[in-house]
Amino acid sequence: MQRFNLKGKVALVTGGNGGIGAGIARGLLECGAAVVIAGRNVDKNKAMVATLQTLGPPVSAVAMDVTEESQCHAGVRETVQRHGQLNILVNNAGMGNGKLPQDLTVAEWHEIMNTNLTSAFILSQAAYPEMKKAGGGKIINVGSMASYLSFGAVPAYGASKAGIIQFGRACASAWAKDNIQVNTILPGYIDTDMTRARLQRNAELHARALARTAAGRMGTPDDFAGIAAFLASPASDFITGADIPVDGGFLWGI
Ligand code: NDP
Repeated sequence: MQRFNLKGKVALVTGGNGGIGAGIARGLLECGAAVVIAGRNVDKNKAMVATLQTLGPPVSAVAMDVTEESQCHAGVRETVQRHGQLNILVNNAGMGNGKLPQDLTVAEWHEIMNTNLTSAFILSQAAYPEMKKAGGGKIINVGSMASYLSFGAVPAYGASKAGIIQFGRACASAWAKDNIQVNTILPGYIDTDMTRARLQRNAELHARALARTAAGRMGTPDDFAGIAAFLASPASDFITGADIPVDGGFLWGI
């Protein structure tokens, strides 16, 4: 369908070298966008580019630590140099450490906030003039069930993921006049390196998270291809400032 066509569009996806980011990159490529994935691990970047290349549209990687302001700006510059424009930004890179509030250090607090929230601010700000120049754009942020729900072991993670919703809404309001739409995806319980690492720390978590997911299964990175393509495409031009659970019913289930 023409309104889902992303041919001629250029996307930058942070954390696109694995997990949910790779699923998002796949969805954008399947609809015809050129995609640049950004991550710190150059081997993972390279391997994911090789995997995604089979889909057809141009895909490449930039080495980027999203906690480094200069690297965020360089990544946006490099994307525009490679493809002449930037139309879609996906702020997906994220991390947490599962520590209780009393155990979290200030350094860890800053690392999580910088990775999950401040990076979205820096990259959105860097992308804005490019999108304005292109006559519009799409910013897709990645939140979490912890954007809404309270889990004791995610004090900084939860704060960053709640914050990204309000940050996205502010951009949605400020930039609507520039035809830039900004929305947040809220993943449920998804099978990625992040959850596998968490499960090693707390096996009982798996049963609880699964029991709460009405769909009766963990999500997969592929479950994010469709929502990303939709939010990046003209089909969603009247949707902005929204937060959309992609959670198999986790949020409102029991
Ligand atoms: P993964 O651990 O599988 O992937 C995280 C990605 O982020 C990697 O590609 C990693 O690449 C990148 N990344 C992490 N830190 C940085 C950094 N400082 N600079 C650049 N890239 C970075 O996790 P998921 O795919 O599960 O998570 C993706 C997003 O989804 C995150 O924002 C997470 O909070 C969110 N989410 C995930 C859920 C789940 O159940 N899996 C649930 C709710 C939300 P590299 O290491 O190469 O830098």
